[in-house]
Amino acid sequence: MLNVRETGVNFIERKFAEYYADAFETVSLPSSFTQREFGFIPFTEKIMIRHKGFTAPEEFMTFITSITPAHAYYSAAYYEDPEAPMAKKGWIGSDLIFDIDSDHIPTPCKGEHDYWICEDCSTGTSQSSQGNCPHCGSGKLRKEFWLCETCLELAKAETLKLLDFLITDFGFQQREIKTYFSGHRGYHVHVDREGVKSLDQAARKEIVDYLLGTGLNIEFHGLKRTHRTAEWRSMGPTLSDSGWKGRIAKGVYDFLLSATPQQLEDLEGLTKTAARRVVNNRDRILAGGGNSAPWGVVKGVGPKTWETLAMNGVKKQASMIDPVVTMDIHRLIRVPRSLHGKTGLKAVPIPINFLEKFNPLTEAVAFPEGQLDVYVTEAPAFRLGSGVFGPYRRERVELPMAAGIYLLCKRAAKDARRPS
Ligand SMILES: [Zn+2]
Ligand SMILES: [Zn+2]
Repeated sequence: MLNVRETGVNFIERKFAEYYADAFETVSLPSSFTQREFGFIPFTEKIMIRHKGFTAPEEFMTFITSITPAHAYYSAAYYEDPEAPMAKKGWIGSDLIFDIDSDHIPTPCKGEHDYWICEDCSTGTSQSSQGNCPHCGSGKLRKEFWLCETCLELAKAETLKLLDFLITDFGFQQREIKTYFSGHRGYHVHVDREGVKSLDQAARKEIVDYLLGTGLNIEFHGLKRTHRTAEWRSMGPTLSDSGWKGRIAKGVYDFLLSATPQQLEDLEGLTKTAARRVVNNRDRILAGGGNSAPWGVVKGVGPKTWETLAMNGVKKQASMIDPVVTMDIHRLIRVPRSLHGKTGLKAVPIPINFLEKFNPLTEAVAFPEGQLDVYVTEAPAFRLGSGVFGPYRRERVELPMAAGIYLLCKRAAKDARRPS
């Protein structure tokens, strides 16, 4: 008798092997390829095969087709000897990298597609019934991200925001920046430029702090109190200012444009009276926002209120990168165009100009042909390729190959054509 899980895994492994043999292109392998460390997670073991180095793309191809990994990574770092133990590798430098993961972004739909997988019986469930598996009662449930258009859209918007920081504030050239869909729930951004390679951890932390707006003092960014006649007035930054000044103005402006009276009242540090005054004068404030204000044009809205609104603006404008990834100078990152073992999707390089139009749910599909007959344990509705599927519960369905493989990768289904 075949184990349910192994049946699905063997099939995915075979399809991944076909992909690496027929469709994988080595053109997108990283620069200075021979100085990088590579790591692979096989389907059958959880342990990563790492400290691998390659002298030529062909050698990489031979290796990847011989082991067919569930995940393939390379180091953002360059080493004298990538195969040596960590301490003896001889660190030369590292690309500057950023990770934007929808898991770190507060999206409105999380509750709708929260999903758990039982470590003991592999049942997938959207109902964790007080943290236990509804099938076998096990308490070992692993939370899984379910492909979601809204989450991926928001991750993309965050990536565009990050690119604006990198190009406008840091002055990087478009051609020095590479953007990738991760194959799962977010995007990676790499800066490949000589000057950044030698940055140590402390320098990278400075970059992270800037992007997060950490420790930002509003008074140094244009929100000054000036004494005029008998009244205190706030002269704030404007939309056309550069750097964080302009970003703060934009954060305040965008918030005032869309906030409900309730959202204003809920803002920590804002009194009810002040919130009401802002609401009542919203149009006047926004009308001044084009070039000069929105600051200080309303009587009775004082510096304290503006400061609260400004700090909220900082929060909205900050980049939602994963700080740990950027600060780690030995980080392993996914090999472009390799397959993601949790989805069966490709890690896709995206030209910056194309990012806005990029749709991961169609562009990242690695298996566009064929159908697959699967038995689905449980799956919420999801969109992939040009179709919408599910929800399914303990049923046999014929799906386009990519959707079938996705469910197998999530261990939410098994290959129905084989005995179990
Ligand atoms: Zn279970
Ligand atoms: Zn979502």
